[in-house]
Amino acid sequence: MINSDKNRIPKQIHRFMGVDRKDIDWFPIIDFNKCNNCGDCVQFCAHGVFNMENGVLIVQNPKNCVVFCQACLKMCPKDALIFQEKKKVLAQIRQIKSQQKQSIDNY
Ligand code: SF4
Ligand code: SF4
Repeated sequence: MINSDKNRIPKQIHRFMGVDRKDIDWFPIIDFNKCNNCGDCVQFCAHGVFNMENGVLIVQNPKNCVVFCQACLKMCPKDALIFQEKKKVLAQIRQIKSQQKQSIDNY
């Protein structure tokens, strides 16, 4: 595994915009029609999101991904990474915050 050192102590962001990072659907999806498994993104991402398994790229730690980063998308030579639309993720974050506020108000 190329990324074994990073996996031991992955950099994690626990909250984003006041919301638990685990609740936010932001992470890369691999387009295997384009990806050539070069492994550049494994080396590039400092957050241990990617790894190689038997020569095939995997998204091993999706919730380690920095919300709205997309740096690996820009460096991938095959344009093989896909992310959710930012506005959909922002809407999700706003909805979670609204639910949090309601539960505090109802307390
Ligand atoms: S850099 Fe792009 S082509 Fe290379 S392994 Fe990552 S996603 Fe696939
Ligand atoms: S978007 Fe940033 S943090 Fe997320 S996998 Fe790509 S380089 Fe890593």
